[in-house]
Amino acid sequence: MTDTAILKKGTKLAKSVTSPKKFIVGKGILSNISSYISPFGDNAYFICDEFIVDQAAKVGGASFNASGKTATFEKFNYECSQNEIDRNRKLARLAGANVIVGIGGGKTLDTAKATAYYEKLPVVIYPTIASTDAPCTSITVVYTDEGQFDQYLYLPSNPDMVIADTDILASAPKRFFAAGIGDGLTTYFEARACYRSNGLNLANLRPSLIGVGLAKQCYETILRNAIPAMHAVEKKLSTTAVEAVIEATIYLSGVGAESGGLAAAHAIHNGMTAVPSLHRVQHGEKVTFGLLAQLVLENAPQEELEEVINIIKAVGLPLTLQDLGLTEFVDEEWRNVAELSCSVNDTMGNMPFEVTPDDVFNAIVTADAIAQTYHD
Ligand SMILES: [Zn+2]
Repeated sequence: MTDTAILKKGTKLAKSVTSPKKFIVGKGILSNISSYISPFGDNAYFICDEFIVDQAAKVGGASFNASGKTATFEKFNYECSQNEIDRNRKLARLAGANVIVGIGGGKTLDTAKATAYYEKLPVVIYPTIASTDAPCTSITVVYTDEGQFDQYLYLPSNPDMVIADTDILASAPKRFFAAGIGDGLTTYFEARACYRSNGLNLANLRPSLIGVGLAKQCYETILRNAIPAMHAVEKKLSTTAVEAVIEATIYLSGVGAESGGLAAAHAIHNGMTAVPSLHRVQHGEKVTFGLLAQLVLENAPQEELEEVINIIKAVGLPLTLQDLGLTEFVDEEWRNVAELSCSVNDTMGNMPFEVTPDDVFNAIVTADAIAQTYHD
């Protein structure tokens, strides 16, 4: 974390916009990946999700062989924990790598970013699911080996390159695509709150106009394209709407969140990671519920709330706590969620008014009650 993180509201801090150096969107990139990566290094260490490690080694590896470059492919071990980061650092060193590549979901990509940071190497990010803001940001979310939120690791720079391969992203299970829409839906509301409070963005500086602007563009792109895009993704097809949503959920949402800032929705998400029965729920699915609770905290206009709920329903995201898989609402458990979401290291302080754990608990219960009335 930078020294600026300890500065509080009211101090004279600069605004910022930070983003990856390159963002590429297109089809069929894996078979030619060495030509994209070679400007950064000729010996690549890949951290890959289990489902794609063989395909990456075969198809991606062939492109390295053909160009006389070297690549090593390692399977990611399921959790972005300090132990997993340290394991990959050792293996990357052993391979003599001079560039780190992450292929997979958010946790895999975060592990690649952290590994590259500690080893002082460039990093290329190739998401296989469009489910989170992770690809473009300069943040790694570190979890315990048991999967509970541990800390945000603030990196000095964003990835050197992010590759969005629309063929791969459109063929992922639709649940991930919807989760990305959920994470993208929240970006504007959190950036707006953070801008209003002159809070701290994810670079620990003030939210910039361009950050909030990208977040707004993200929301509008999702409103315009999410429904036709979901229909295409159900058939594992990439269309113009799919490409637009991918640009929104991977680039606009990531850069918008980092430069515009997070607020209640993500803080509540982080609190929710302490609920064991929600461990298998996607990040974007929990954030979506966090957004409903944020809108209750803000006492948002009815039409705004309904616009959000309509998109959540149309793309098949979970709406209520029961949809998220909660079988029993235990007061004590959710008091703890509310408490955690208000911890000083989290982003609740970016709300434009004071928020107490009591307020959060009440907003969670109310958001769930409202959501139930919109349930089919
Ligand atoms: Zn997120």
